[in-house]
Amino acid sequence: MNNSDIFSKEMYETGFVCDFNLQDGLSEKAISTKRYLSQMKGMFSDEEAYEKALKEEDSVIYEFYEMGFPETDAHLGMGTSITYPGKIGDEYYFTKGHFHTILETAEVYYGLSGEGYMLLENPEGDWKFLPIRPGVAVYVPPRYAHRTINTGSVPLITFFTYRADAGHDYGTIETKGYRTILVEERGIPTFKANPKWQEE
Ligand code: ZN
Repeated sequence: MNNSDIFSKEMYETGFVCDFNLQDGLSEKAISTKRYLSQMKGMFSDEEAYEKALKEEDSVIYEFYEMGFPETDAHLGMGTSITYPGKIGDEYYFTKGHFHTILETAEVYYGLSGEGYMLLENPEGDWKFLPIRPGVAVYVPPRYAHRTINTGSVPLITFFTYRADAGHDYGTIETKGYRTILVEERGIPTFKANPKWQEE
């Protein structure tokens, strides 16, 4: 029995079949959401370096595929995320990151290729950087905002899955940022307090 026997044409059309490639993270049917440098204004710590980089090129910083399953607590949302290599000043490229709208929901990321970190932070101020690389699963506990950071020289590609109705809250991170940032110092990824972060 092969896939065409198990899954009807309707199941493909309604998105119940995942077609992303777990080697390169790409999908033939799903359309990726791309985040360009210009959409991340104010998120990198070095404003001057940001403006300079933007003048040169409005690069794609990351993109992700969502399989578009029904957003109910019975389903799992899933997809792949590709964070490109690069830095703004000394700070590595990262995804905007988000809390889940339903804060008490978890997520799993699985490293497919490339290397970097998952930055976790909860509203109470607890934060962690967890390494992610091929074959490594990262568990994002409930209540933790999560951001992927590429510290390598090739795209960091991950697979992710979460409760499909969890929802994405980007606003809090866009306005407040994270308490810590990851910069390159003497060639080594180094955690630092975010100079732009302020307690409310
Ligand atoms: Zn999430």
